[in-house]
Amino acid sequence: MSKGFLLVISGPSGSGKGTICAELLKRNKDLVFSVSATTRGARQGEKEGISYFFMDNERFQKMIENDEFIEYAKVHTNYYGTPRKFVTNQIGKGNIVILEIDVQGALQVKKSYPEAVLIFLLPPSMDELKNRLIGRGTESQEEIEIRYKNAFKEMKYIYEYDYFVVNDNIMEALKEIEAIIIAEKAKINRGKNILGKLLVEGGM
Ligand code: ADP
Ligand code: 5GP
Repeated sequence: MSKGFLLVISGPSGSGKGTICAELLKRNKDLVFSVSATTRGARQGEKEGISYFFMDNERFQKMIENDEFIEYAKVHTNYYGTPRKFVTNQIGKGNIVILEIDVQGALQVKKSYPEAVLIFLLPPSMDELKNRLIGRGTESQEEIEIRYKNAFKEMKYIYEYDYFVVNDNIMEALKEIEAIIIAEKAKINRGKNILGKLLVEGGM
């Protein structure tokens, strides 16, 4: 078994991160999802503890003070953070932990976990991104404009990432991400346990 690691997926709002992550989790049993904490209100259909841990500003600040996040950031207009405990437990179990987080968070993760794998998800075009944001129907016109503008700022950070995937056809994008996961699992430095075991068996 190879060691567990963090798989960071970032990309502009509407690029398809949520859709892709849900499919990845359905199809791959060694992947687990890190549920973030946020100060934003729940959207229709979102569930506490599954979509996010929804909380007020005060509770979020307490978690920061107690060092309970591996990273946190203000994104668009609210705070978001990745709870530390779940991530460390799951890596310890050899699982691959998906973090669906913004570019600021991804850079913090890269610093503290240099073995993390960072994937940037892109829309096939900016027009299509706008269409998807409008089509999703979960934000007001004003919120859509903020997300669309932020997309340009976020994309400038793509060179900090290890891989990019264009989400045009969803099945193709999924296959590409799964290929990245397979290759990353096979990296020599992730297989220390198995190599050590074979060497011991061989009396080395
Ligand atoms: P994000 O989590 O990055 O903000 P979503 O997963 O919510 O994005 O996707 C935004 C919208 O685009 C949703 O309505 C989703 O159903 C749609 N969508 C996602 N991927 C594709 C795709 N490959 N082709 C067409 N529509 C897509
Ligand atoms: P949304 O409000 O659309 O669910 O998410 C808005 C943005 O916040 C997305 O870019 C998403 O990736 C990011 N995000 C979600 N959770 C976290 C987190 O824990 N940390 C950081 N830094 N960003 C997050």
